[in-house]
Amino acid sequence: MKGFFDTRLEFLKGVGPQKSALLNKELEIFTYGDLIQYYPFRYEDRTRFYIISEIDHQLPNVQIKGTLQNVEMVGGGSKKRLVAHLRDSTGTIELVWFKGIKWVVKKLQPGVTYSVFGKPTRYGKKINMVHPEIEVFTSSHEGPGYLQPVYHTSETLKNRFLDSKAISKLQRQLLTAARSRITETLPEGLMTELGLTSKADALWHIHFPLDSRKLNEARLRLKFEELFYIQLQLLKLKLARTEKFKGKIFKETGLINEFYHNHLPFQLTAAQKRVIREIYYDLKSGKQMNRLLQGDVGSGKTIVAFICILAVIGANAQAALMAPTEILAEQHYRGLEPYARKLGVEINILTGSTTKSTRTNLHEKLQNGSLQILVGTHALLEDQVQFQSLGLAVIDEQHRFGVAQRAKLWSKNKNFFPHVLVMTATPIPRTLAMTLYGDLDVSVIDELPPGRKAIETVHRYDQNRLKVFGFIKQQIAMGRQVYFVYPLIEESAKMDLKHLQDGYESISRAFPEVPVSIVHGKMKSRDKDFEMQRFVKGETRIMVATTVIEVGVDVPNASTMVIENSERFGLAQLHQLRGRVGRGAEQSYCILMTDVKISKEGRTRIQTMVRTNDGFEIADVDLKLRGPGDLMGTQQSGVLDLLIADLGRDGKLLQLAREKAVKVLESDPDLDLPENMNIRRQIAQQSKSSLNWSRIS
Ligand code: ADP
Ligand code: MG
Repeated sequence: MKGFFDTRLEFLKGVGPQKSALLNKELEIFTYGDLIQYYPFRYEDRTRFYIISEIDHQLPNVQIKGTLQNVEMVGGGSKKRLVAHLRDSTGTIELVWFKGIKWVVKKLQPGVTYSVFGKPTRYGKKINMVHPEIEVFTSSHEGPGYLQPVYHTSETLKNRFLDSKAISKLQRQLLTAARSRITETLPEGLMTELGLTSKADALWHIHFPLDSRKLNEARLRLKFEELFYIQLQLLKLKLARTEKFKGKIFKETGLINEFYHNHLPFQLTAAQKRVIREIYYDLKSGKQMNRLLQGDVGSGKTIVAFICILAVIGANAQAALMAPTEILAEQHYRGLEPYARKLGVEINILTGSTTKSTRTNLHEKLQNGSLQILVGTHALLEDQVQFQSLGLAVIDEQHRFGVAQRAKLWSKNKNFFPHVLVMTATPIPRTLAMTLYGDLDVSVIDELPPGRKAIETVHRYDQNRLKVFGFIKQQIAMGRQVYFVYPLIEESAKMDLKHLQDGYESISRAFPEVPVSIVHGKMKSRDKDFEMQRFVKGETRIMVATTVIEVGVDVPNASTMVIENSERFGLAQLHQLRGRVGRGAEQSYCILMTDVKISKEGRTRIQTMVRTNDGFEIADVDLKLRGPGDLMGTQQSGVLDLLIADLGRDGKLLQLAREKAVKVLESDPDLDLPENMNIRRQIAQQSKSSLNWSRIS
């Protein structure tokens, strides 16, 4: 069904094929519907005229009205400019033009009253306006005033006379024709309950607001709608999956009990116990589990995963534990192997560097079921890797894995879908988690094991390096180990590698008696592993590394981390890195090195790290600094291309939208009650459009 809103833009009066092609290319506006949803990004205040005496340079763009006095050319050379004086009953202001003088001067008639719009700036002691917009004041300027929408355009478009004003004109023309055809997309009941304005009014006022109250009503309505439909789709997906995919029931507790009472080397925290109960409840529910486990670095997610794995092994099924890097996979393997041995459980590891003969052997044992736990990297996803009966797949550090890979794990069992537990140490702000993982159930470990001392974080400038080295010497003399971390960013990999090598040499010179390890991503994994091992065993006391040590590496005796060029790291990464220290009983330190000169944003990041250890607080700052798309990388940003809502700011509204979506689906899972007709129609409409929901399923 093709409707009015699918009409191609070229058919709008005043557009035509050429302009339409430009708008397609530059702004991705193809249809009437696209244009209407191309919202202004800000508004200029034309609701009133300011009087000249109240104007100062701190005001944004303002509108004034006055009689033009003399017009004159001033200065010479590059300082040559046109100056006009505008006067009202309260004072006079200078209007200045450096460019387009020939053209402007024709418009300026002394003695005539003008409406002027521009940004007041300070020039010496005077306030003036440079390159203001100026029009002869007419009766059309009287009346109630309005907010002038401003649309993003491009240089190319502006050169073809498609500036913000021109777009606004097109919007007015289109909306005048379209207004009566706009159908309501939210249920009446919900709109009344929340006091939301109608879709038709909202669209009108988002483009042509008379005042800020109307604008806010329109924004609220459109943001709510956007968030509501995202949540509704996610919840529907989840609902469909729980109904469609039966989960195998695992309720064996024999192995868990044996481990818990005889081998667990510490007390679980209350948060760990709660989360284990949540997962165990899923495993025995008969529904397939898709659960996200969030817990800050060091909160003890691994042991939680292992205990859940035992429930599955105890019932004669198998489990997979997948990590994003070899180092991490090996660490998991080394950590869990002793437990498994005590329990008589067969565990092994598969990575890219596993030899062919070992591989063949592993494949066989997986298929005959004798291998019960397989730890590994992406290598687990290869087609040859077939389990006899995969019951649970645990994915560690989710942010490195795509959703497609999650799906691939599901298909590793031909008889039933394995349960999936996704673990992440990247604290994701709640709002973002609700959107990115809105189809998963979420468990949170919000407590660190007891006895951890808060990491002390300081900021030091490069020129104070000697002092920092002095501190490091003390730490090493006390028997501690130290990390030095260098940035390694793909585009400048060569330069970064050189910095790393230089750093390694200067550190070796500064600490001649201390054995130093070096690890970076360009090394062969065998060499990397060898060096890692030396550090883990305490044979080397200093580890010079790139971010390969970022996730999961666990050396409790390493109590100090120095991060070089720390302003080049993102907040999430800094937080991850810092989590490598503070794992033992000793006081630990994180020293953020920078040049004296750093950007404002860089400084905010450093200050945030110094101020707090709370991963969620850091994630919130990160979200505000970078916006949600960047935060999660490109991998999943499609879901986050929101037209109007802002996950950084609209957290409360998102919460509300989710609650309402839950309520709607609870009372009407198939959306066939008459009161939900608007929803049904809108979903049908959306599924035709480009938004591809399969990407997040
Ligand atoms: P992460 O959540 O970052 O993956 P890990 O699972 O690596 O954390 O755990 C970090 C360290 O804390 C490990 O050495 C682990 O053995 C230890 N640990 C986990 N839970 C507890 C606990 N309840 N009490 C004491 N130590 C614990
Ligand atoms: Mg971990």
